[in-house]
Amino acid sequence: MTLRFLHRGYSTLRSFKHTMEPLVVIFGSTGTGKSDLAVELASNFNGEIINADAMQMYEGLPIITNKITPEEQRGVPHHLLGNVQLGENPWTVLQFKDAASKIISEIRGRGKLPILVGGSTYYLDGLLFDNRLIKDQSASENVIVDREELNAKFPILAEPAEVMLKKLREVDPEMAERWHPKDIRKIRNSLEIYYTTGRRASEIYAEQRSRKESKWAAAGSESTKSRWNVLMFWLYARSEPLNERLDKRVDKMVANGLLEETAQVYDWYQARIASGETVDRDRGIVQSIGFWQFEPYLRALKETPESPELTKLKEASIEDTKTGTRRYAKYQVRWITMKTLVSLQDEKLLDRLYLLDGTDVQTWRDEVAGKGVELTKKFLAGEKLPQPVDLSETAREVLTAKVERSNRQETRCNKTCELCKKTFLTEELWQAHLKSQKHSKVVRAVKRRALVRSDPRNKALTVVEDQGADAPPP
Ligand SMILES: [Zn+2]
Repeated sequence: MTLRFLHRGYSTLRSFKHTMEPLVVIFGSTGTGKSDLAVELASNFNGEIINADAMQMYEGLPIITNKITPEEQRGVPHHLLGNVQLGENPWTVLQFKDAASKIISEIRGRGKLPILVGGSTYYLDGLLFDNRLIKDQSASENVIVDREELNAKFPILAEPAEVMLKKLREVDPEMAERWHPKDIRKIRNSLEIYYTTGRRASEIYAEQRSRKESKWAAAGSESTKSRWNVLMFWLYARSEPLNERLDKRVDKMVANGLLEETAQVYDWYQARIASGETVDRDRGIVQSIGFWQFEPYLRALKETPESPELTKLKEASIEDTKTGTRRYAKYQVRWITMKTLVSLQDEKLLDRLYLLDGTDVQTWRDEVAGKGVELTKKFLAGEKLPQPVDLSETAREVLTAKVERSNRQETRCNKTCELCKKTFLTEELWQAHLKSQKHSKVVRAVKRRALVRSDPRNKALTVVEDQGADAPPP
């Protein structure tokens, strides 16, 4: 608001000019119609679209990556779509940030409106809150985790310590050096940073140190401000209807040739292994939902094509893909809540985030497209924008609850109950777990077993207390 006012009032101030370039950002979980909204806005306001979805950057494979079709693009120019080759790693946040910034400038140079859209919210966070991102990632426990979701996405994070350490030695030897080989949490944290951010933890720490030392970073809040005058849309849908919709979408993907595409990736993957290449199971195109889920079926199809089990395997693969998709949608919302909202709050940009309710497809035109167009129009005209919570009942409810949640004073930690095999990232959840019936039950069972063995050396088993957080080493 202030910046826009300054722009109109003091347009001769050259130093402010860059800051005031308009930028529309659309994010939200998969299956909410982000691409459609982007096209709608671009057609109304002479815009061009920049994709911020890591998987959609891969060339080809339109079904598995859920790419917008040429018809759906309705003649609107799209950038960073299908620009990464199959064998390449997904772009890091920095790569994305550099390329997207350049494209935004070029679009502005053509006098058009840049619209960023995508489900890889970490790309958007990286672009909008550049310094903050690094600050955040440096504290490894800040990387949001629902252990189950993360393990599903990156199966290696569920492997034993030695397997993870071997991988860490490959991808970030400097960090691997630092940890005790049995310190599974620290090893996992470093790997987690690598997989969730696409960057080495050692690199992030080094950067953080050099930033700390530079006076520029000490200049404080000003340097972390977003460079653009942003209007943001969070496309939201309540989980029950969304899950139903996602299930149907998977069925549709199967009907449209998902199996043929996964088979294509499978063959490519196998050929690379056969040629002796080191292939990462946890990175790149094979990370797209549907690939690993279909692997057992595809393997059986090759090895035992006559097997009567094939139909069953295929059905199980489809079910797993549905589960994976729903889990991914949940993960995306969690990221927005735990990371994006917190950053927006810090940057005092929460009043620029509008939640559009895409729960009901019947009302999508009014609730999403209509309201989105209306807000963008006001935004570009420099008119007063409404309060985000006043946009709809859902907006009020969700934004209020989520902002409150992101506000809650939580002491971050990373503690694992070795008995229950559960990891907790806040002290509050950890304490609650220790007092929970579930945990007590497990403790009692373990003690009973210990008594039965009646070995005098068998001390009562206690939960291993964690000695402080995994702060980056100095
Ligand atoms: Zn426990």
